[in-house]
Amino acid sequence: MIKSNLIILMLISGIILISCTKQVPLFKGENAFTMLKDQCDLGARVPGSEEIELCRDYIIDRLQKYGADVKQQKFTIEYEGREIPGVNITGSFYPRLSRRILLGAHYDTRPWADKDADENNHNKPVLGANDGASGVAVLLEMGRILAEKMPEEYGVDLVFFDLEDMGTYTEDGGWCQGSKYFAEHWEGDKPEKSIVVDMIGDKDLRIPIEYHSYHNSPLLVREVWDIAWQLGITEFDNRIDNAIDDDHYSLITEGFEAIDIIDFEYDSWHTTHDTPDKCSAASLQKVGQVLVNLIYQK
Ligand SMILES: [Zn+2]
Repeated sequence: MIKSNLIILMLISGIILISCTKQVPLFKGENAFTMLKDQCDLGARVPGSEEIELCRDYIIDRLQKYGADVKQQKFTIEYEGREIPGVNITGSFYPRLSRRILLGAHYDTRPWADKDADENNHNKPVLGANDGASGVAVLLEMGRILAEKMPEEYGVDLVFFDLEDMGTYTEDGGWCQGSKYFAEHWEGDKPEKSIVVDMIGDKDLRIPIEYHSYHNSPLLVREVWDIAWQLGITEFDNRIDNAIDDDHYSLITEGFEAIDIIDFEYDSWHTTHDTPDKCSAASLQKVGQVLVNLIYQK
């Protein structure tokens, strides 16, 4: 009697477990990896270039196919006496839901491969398979999922920042111009949670906790890293690491609850070697699934 009750109990809890996990859609790393390669096929997406315009069209086209409400935020910055145009793109899903999650990534790539071992390459642009395309790819695959299934609690805004990667290493000013403009011109209620993903395609993935994220939003960091651990994704490392001036910091400065998911240990960073062969569908899948669970898990 006890035994059979136990078996019934196990069966019921098994069914509950299956039905719970069934509610969370599957993030397809292969889809995201294809979109990473598509972006690289356009060439380097340097601000103001023809290639970045093609990339913008690519992002907007996808978002519209997924039924998102698409907005472009145009602005210009001055760099060494030149006016450089920038466009932030937002794809909003379920705009009537008042509780919002913002997912962000930059889509521009750095004009100078100035960390390349070969000095002759220092004025060549970075292809940005990891530094640029990986975050965009994860957001776009999220768009596919959002189109197929409405989350119960949250509407989601996918934000593609321009002009992240034009700074110099000796001063803070030049970096993250798109997200700065975006955050400074935000109107209305802020999203409950904002998460930036950057450089998350590295085959050799390890994501420590970025310092500003932990300092600003420890609960959101805990929530995201706990989800990763529940899923067995141990690449999310519980150690707190360097402070990184990335797009999330522009949001933090303007009072957003924002964190960054970033793997900053990447040998090909700001070199001509930041190409798709250094990235993997498996890494995109891991980060993407954590975000899917954050949005859909009850
Ligand atoms: Zn960069």
